[in-house]
Amino acid sequence: MKFGRLARPGEVALADLPEPTAGPGEVTVTLAACGVCGTDLEKLRGNYRTAGILGHEPVGRVAAVGEGVEGIALGDRVFVHHHVPCYACEVCARGDYTFCPTFSKTNLDPGGFAETFRVPRENVERKAILRLDPSVDWDSGSLLEPAGCALTAIRKVGLPEGASVFVLGLGPVGLLYARLARSLGAGWVGGTEVSPLRRAAAERGGIDAAVDPREPEAARKAVDRGTGGRGVDLAVVATGHPAVARAATELVRRGGTVNLFGLPQSGGRLDADLQDLYLRGVRLVPSYATTEPEIADVHRLVVSGSLRIADLVSHRYPIAEIAEAFRRAARPDESVKVVVTGRAH
Ligand SMILES: [Zn+2]
Ligand SMILES: [Zn+2]
Repeated sequence: MKFGRLARPGEVALADLPEPTAGPGEVTVTLAACGVCGTDLEKLRGNYRTAGILGHEPVGRVAAVGEGVEGIALGDRVFVHHHVPCYACEVCARGDYTFCPTFSKTNLDPGGFAETFRVPRENVERKAILRLDPSVDWDSGSLLEPAGCALTAIRKVGLPEGASVFVLGLGPVGLLYARLARSLGAGWVGGTEVSPLRRAAAERGGIDAAVDPREPEAARKAVDRGTGGRGVDLAVVATGHPAVARAATELVRRGGTVNLFGLPQSGGRLDADLQDLYLRGVRLVPSYATTEPEIADVHRLVVSGSLRIADLVSHRYPIAEIAEAFRRAARPDESVKVVVTGRAH
């Protein structure tokens, strides 16, 4: 079978492996779709300090069920989460599951961009396989992981009813964040984005103001209009550029929160006015990744119709064309969300 991997820096290519089998406690899944995430692109650029496994937003059909696995049947339509915490260490005991040392060591084999992938026993045991409701299409299913990341972040920072939110970087995950905030009762929601296609996706999702950050003072003017000059309750840094993080600190109100949400540039430094942050009581809260309860909750929101996301997938490429999928995903002007599809689609 074929799978997509980093061939060398800057190049994703197909490789061959024997079809994986399901050992005791394991499951294999035939791929339907897996989104190309911004972090996959950063791995390609060599800007992400992790192992180079690509693809972590997969949905598909269960191909084989190993001995002792209960509640999962052949042919089930599923979403599979690649990382699971240990639920036993002191980091987990404090509820910081995504920062558990085990979390980022767990993964699918050989990754989400594979015609068939193996779900290890620890992922199966910790409920990383979610059965999709029949109403949830493959496109929406492939967005559950990034949407879960947004929900984890929102719960971490807290989003009171009516809170104003500004998302800097309305790429796929920023758009999911903005739409989720909208569906969870945020008040005014705005954001910045250079790509007109992505700004249009924001407007379709009921975002109040999506502005081009290349226009002078565009973010400041939008926030002033949206909040009567007060500043937003929550500014979300959904891109990796350090200057954007700094801009976020300047857009929040007194006592407001900046959520570091997108993967920052490797080695990026925050050049912010510390006395200003101190005197205005600005909180900086990082949020990385997601866990099963939030993924299950965003699935419920999609099933109930209160979170609409399927229209965010703008391009689908069969796994044989994975290199083109990555090229397209790296061009914000030409795509919103790109997914790679497999035999189960
Ligand atoms: Zn992702
Ligand atoms: Zn742990």
